[in-house]
Amino acid sequence: MSINKIKRNGQRPIKGVLFDFDGTLTYPGALDFNAIRREMGCPEDRPILEYLETQEPVRRSELLKILESKEEKAAERSIPNKGAEKCLAVLLEKGLPLGILTRNSLRSVRVALERFNGIKIEDFSSIITREDSLPKPHPGGIYKAAGQMGILPSELMMVGDFRFDVMAGKAAGAFSVLLTSNGRSVMAPGDPEPDGIVDDLLEILKLI
Ligand SMILES: [Mg+2]
Repeated sequence: MSINKIKRNGQRPIKGVLFDFDGTLTYPGALDFNAIRREMGCPEDRPILEYLETQEPVRRSELLKILESKEEKAAERSIPNKGAEKCLAVLLEKGLPLGILTRNSLRSVRVALERFNGIKIEDFSSIITREDSLPKPHPGGIYKAAGQMGILPSELMMVGDFRFDVMAGKAAGAFSVLLTSNGRSVMAPGDPEPDGIVDDLLEILKLI
């Protein structure tokens, strides 16, 4: 899909960019969510974190250990997504505050970011992980990130590769961009429509 799909009618100027992490800033596929679900006994159609919440405390902590070990291994072998380093560098040069909003842990984000050239964890004004907020699609993390970035949620661009990213972004009033792989949409019937659809992170630079 093309940049032409993007509508900015009546929107405030973008004053900061909040990125999903896995599959957005990192190359998709490092985390095999279906394999993790199978190992945890989580039904295929259930989000993992929400499934964890339904388990008894002892079982929940066992399952969390499995999840964390999978996430750490994935972080160690993850690589930056196509155009991610360049996109972040350009945004930093423009002086825009950047943030990360992820359902993953801070530890995994740290490990994966070490594999980015020219980008440091300190370059992000806000990093909201599952330890800091209710997970997406809840919009709480977006409000928190916007606050830490010193801007309004409506001045924020939220960029992510999954429907929860768009749902959280739209619920908070952010300009919500879906990053697709080869134009394949992950949105489901009844989901809010993204404000923009790109298939390459560098395309978001044309909007800012
Ligand atoms: Mg993602």
